[in-house]
Amino acid sequence: MLGNLTDKTLNKKFKDVFLDFAVPIYQLIFFCTANNTEDIELFLLSRLTPVTIKPYNYQERLEIAHDLITYNFHSYKIADLIPKFSEKLIKKCLTREWGIRGLKDNIERIAYKAFLWKRRKKLPADWDTANWAIIDKEEVDAGDPQRNRPACPYSEDRTAQHRKGCECFKPELIEGWAENMTA
Ligand SMILES: [Zn+2]
Repeated sequence: MLGNLTDKTLNKKFKDVFLDFAVPIYQLIFFCTANNTEDIELFLLSRLTPVTIKPYNYQERLEIAHDLITYNFHSYKIADLIPKFSEKLIKKCLTREWGIRGLKDNIERIAYKAFLWKRRKKLPADWDTANWAIIDKEEVDAGDPQRNRPACPYSEDRTAQHRKGCECFKPELIEGWAENMTA
C-alpha cells in the first residue's frame, strides 16, 4: 500500500478502494510514523525523509509532571495540597523510561493516596519522605521475537554491557537528566 502511494509513476491518478475517484496524491504530503525504521523495506525508506523525535528532556518531564499534578489534584478536589508536591517528590516519580507512563502512574497514585489520607486526617508532615509506594521502573530491551531481536544482556543482568543499538533507557540521552537526577 505505502509502496504504491509513494510510487512516482503511479500516483497521478491513485484510486483508493474506498473512494471511487482518482486522487492526485503527488500533491499531498504524507506523514508516517514507525517505532523502528529498521523494519521498513529499504525501497520505501528511500522515498521517505526520516525525522527522529527526541524523547522528553528533564525540563519537559517536569512541566508534564506539574500539569499531571494540577489535573489529578483538581479531580480529587484537593487542589489546596498542590504546593506540597515538591520537585524533590517529582524526581522520585520520574521513571527511567523513554515515555512518561510511569510518571503518570506515580502521580495518580500520590493524588489518590493524598485524597484518602486527607479524608482520614492522616496527611504526612513530610511529603518528600512519606510512604506513597512510588514505583521505580526502568525500561529495558527484553527483545522481540516477532522482529527477531534478541534481548539486551543488560535486561537480565544489570552489571552486563548494553548490546549495541538496544532500546534500553539511556539517561545520558535525556537532556538534563544526569545533572538533576543525581544532584
Ligand atoms: Zn540495553
